[in-house]
Amino acid sequence: MWADTTPVRGSDDTPGSSAASGRRWDDVDLAPVTSTDGPSAAAVGVAVDELEALSRFEQDLAHAGDDAARTAAEARHLGLPELALRADLVAADVRRRQGHLAEAGATAQTVQRWATEHHAPAVRARAHYVLAAVFQELGDLAQALEHAVHSVDLLDDTTAVPVRIDHRKRLADCLGLQGDLTAQDRYADVLVLAERAGDVTRLMQILNNSAYTASLAGQLATAQAGVERLQELARVHDVPLDLATRDTIGRVLLNLGDLEEAAAALRPGLDPAALDSSPEGDAGADILLTHAEVQRARGLHDEARASLEECIRRCEAHGLTAIRTRARRERAELFAAAGAFRDAYEEHVRYTREALALQSEQREARARTLQAMYETTEARQQSRRYRELSLRDALTGLYNRRHLDDELPVLLAAADGNRPLAVGLVDLDHFKQVNDTCSHEVGDEVLRRVARVMEAVALSVANGAFAARLGGEEFLLVMPGCGTAEAMSVLEQLRHGIEHKLWTELTQGLPVTVSIGMAISPNPLPLTPADLLGRADARLYEAKRSGRNRVVGPAGIPAPRSAG
Ligand code: GH3
Ligand code: MG
Ligand code: MG
Repeated sequence: MWADTTPVRGSDDTPGSSAASGRRWDDVDLAPVTSTDGPSAAAVGVAVDELEALSRFEQDLAHAGDDAARTAAEARHLGLPELALRADLVAADVRRRQGHLAEAGATAQTVQRWATEHHAPAVRARAHYVLAAVFQELGDLAQALEHAVHSVDLLDDTTAVPVRIDHRKRLADCLGLQGDLTAQDRYADVLVLAERAGDVTRLMQILNNSAYTASLAGQLATAQAGVERLQELARVHDVPLDLATRDTIGRVLLNLGDLEEAAAALRPGLDPAALDSSPEGDAGADILLTHAEVQRARGLHDEARASLEECIRRCEAHGLTAIRTRARRERAELFAAAGAFRDAYEEHVRYTREALALQSEQREARARTLQAMYETTEARQQSRRYRELSLRDALTGLYNRRHLDDELPVLLAAADGNRPLAVGLVDLDHFKQVNDTCSHEVGDEVLRRVARVMEAVALSVANGAFAARLGGEEFLLVMPGCGTAEAMSVLEQLRHGIEHKLWTELTQGLPVTVSIGMAISPNPLPLTPADLLGRADARLYEAKRSGRNRVVGPAGIPAPRSAG
């Protein structure tokens, strides 16, 4: 039976890796200056790596989904969009395994667009990986293959080994299911990776799928070699073969004509406890069907019939239409083998009718899923959320330059004499010294704390004020509806607030201050965003030149500094 890779809780020996994104936030929170209560960025990075490296473990599917959702929320809280999206993709893959194909596909597509826009190859690779699986399940193997190719192409040397194995295995699977003869070369490559990593679970998944597809393509020697290795591995490592793997082994041996061996390989999977071990019931039904075929080939018609009837019973109990249809064909074969040709003919007619109905049902289901995948409100909501994420600065969580580029034109267009728009351009004084004297990590923490002060001041202003990080150590406080006097007073409050924050324990006594240039529109004519920021910048320069730690407004004169 075909085996899917389930991204679920793995064993502790699964090699972890550094966060594949390799971004600055990995080092950031290794510094002893974190200010968040929850897990650190580094811990969230490790958690995402572990989630991605999870291997097949069906029972814990829901648990893995919960873990992924929680990790995604933590990453969002810390302003780490790439990690959040990678965790989202793990959650989406779990949803896919639970049968929610459209939802998984919609999420993966949205993430994929985001990752392309934001040049995040690790996230893109993972989105393609999930999409390959979605299309594979939808039966659209051409699309699946295209996604699988991207999911492998986008990997680099920093990718964790289990992830690299999984992506390359899926590519081999897509080729194998299409009957492509080069699939086996791909499987051979990825087998080497898994061997080197000593990853027995993945080794067995690869061998299973390799043997299965080789057998489909008539590459019987390869299929046989795969089956022998599977059995050997199970023996050496003392791992029980699951039903799907037993089914693959039985089917390959049946195709090879090794009927006794096939029956022996299937037998341990046929006791009722084993048959009930797959929650969806499909693995049990599948192995019973294979067993029926083996017994018929051996001439044991009564046993074949009993196995087949049990298979059909299970198909009906679990609503397994596809296996039910194959079982009908086997029943026709069994009648024919027993010489009951009229029954065989009638059963075969029923089989053909059901197979056609199933095909059109699957086509419709595929169309419905695709429709839902592209058009769900879920997808629209997601894309709003991702958009929001992309408008945030990763280090401070403040709005970023992109958000300002969107917002400033709108705010300026709405500004008039009654409701002007004021901004304060804020730049840290001698910030380089903080980095040089303390460390870059301390510098980052200073930026985060300045951001918090700016947020608090924005909140204290009339509604609609917000803070943004323009880049580096430069921020903007945007104050819709503030006149010159009010804006100057707010900015002075900000300057004072930063100067008098307790910095010494963090910066080894270095002061942290800011210089601010203020600009307002209309003044008297309406300004464009570039003009507004240009004026603020000129005044910021003026503030620096005249001694720093001060606010300069339209009058050109440094505002009087409030007393300590
Ligand atoms: P001035 O008072 O003239 O503004 O002096 P300055 O040292 O603040 O200005 P300068 O522009 O020379 O240096 C800015 C420094 O800000 C240089 C750069 O290393 C640092 N910086 C920019 N972005 C970041 C960041 O994200 N994290 C940290 N820690 N430092 C940053
Ligand atoms: Mg600067
Ligand atoms: Mg500076």
